[in-house]
Amino acid sequence: MPDDVCLIDSHCHLDMADYQSDLDLVIDRAVQYRVKGIVTIGIDLASSQAAVSIAGLTRAVRATVGFHPHDAAKASPASLAQLAALADSNKAEVVGWGEIGLDYVKKYSPPETQRSIFRKQLQMARELKLPVIIHDREAHDDCLRIISEEGPFEQGGIMHCFSGDLNFAQKVIDKNFHISIPGIVTYNKANEMQEVACQVPLERLLVETDGPFLAPVPFRGKRNEPLYTLYTAARIAELRGLELVELARQTTENCQSLFNYEFDC
Ligand SMILES: [Zn+2]
Repeated sequence: MPDDVCLIDSHCHLDMADYQSDLDLVIDRAVQYRVKGIVTIGIDLASSQAAVSIAGLTRAVRATVGFHPHDAAKASPASLAQLAALADSNKAEVVGWGEIGLDYVKKYSPPETQRSIFRKQLQMARELKLPVIIHDREAHDDCLRIISEEGPFEQGGIMHCFSGDLNFAQKVIDKNFHISIPGIVTYNKANEMQEVACQVPLERLLVETDGPFLAPVPFRGKRNEPLYTLYTAARIAELRGLELVELARQTTENCQSLFNYEFDC
C-alpha cells in the first residue's frame, strides 16, 4: 500500500465499553496503518463528555457532542444546555454536533420526542456554527423535511451510515450534506449502498466505521475499530475504479474541511 494513504474515520464511538481495555492500542494501530484521524461521536451527555476527554489526549481524535435519537427522551433542557456549554468550552476538541436524528426502527424514544429533540439540536448546532452528524433509520422523509425547515446549514453536515438510495442522497447533498459510507458496503448483498458509494460525487463522500458496530468484511460480526476504515475505503475505491490513495485523498480533504480541522496526515 502506498505510504501517502491517509484516511479519516468520520464516525466512531471510542468511549464505548468495547474499547475500554485497549483504547490506546486501537488509536495507535489506526494511526500507524494510515487511518490518521478519528472523529468520536457523542450519543448523550456522559458519552459526549467522554468523547471530549479522549480528544484531549491526542490530536488524532476529535469529538462531537449530541443526543442520539435513541436517547432523545433523556435530553432535558438542562442536559442540552450542558452539552452546549461542553462544546463552547472545548472548541479545540469539539468539531461537530451529533449524532442526532431519527430512528423509526428501534423507537427507543417516542418518535414525537425524537423529532422535537432533533429540531432543538439542529438549532443549537447552527448557533454554535458546528456541522451536524445525522442518524436516519427508516425516517428519510421526516429527516429531509426537518432539515429543510431548520436549515440552511452553512457549516454542512453528514448523513452518517447512509441508508437511502441515490435519489435521497442527491436530495441531502442539495441541502449541503455529505454522505458517509460504513463497512456495510463490503457486504455481498449491499447493492443499494454500493450504488450510492459508486455514484455520489467524490467531493461529497466520507468513510466511517461506526465502530464498535458494523465491521466490514473480513471482520464482519467482530468488534469494529477505526483501522478497518481501510477495508471500507478499499472497497469503495474498487467500486469506483479509483486507486485507494486517490479516494483517501479526496475523502480526507472532505472530512477536514467539513470539520474545519487538520489531522496529521
Ligand atoms: Zn454512531
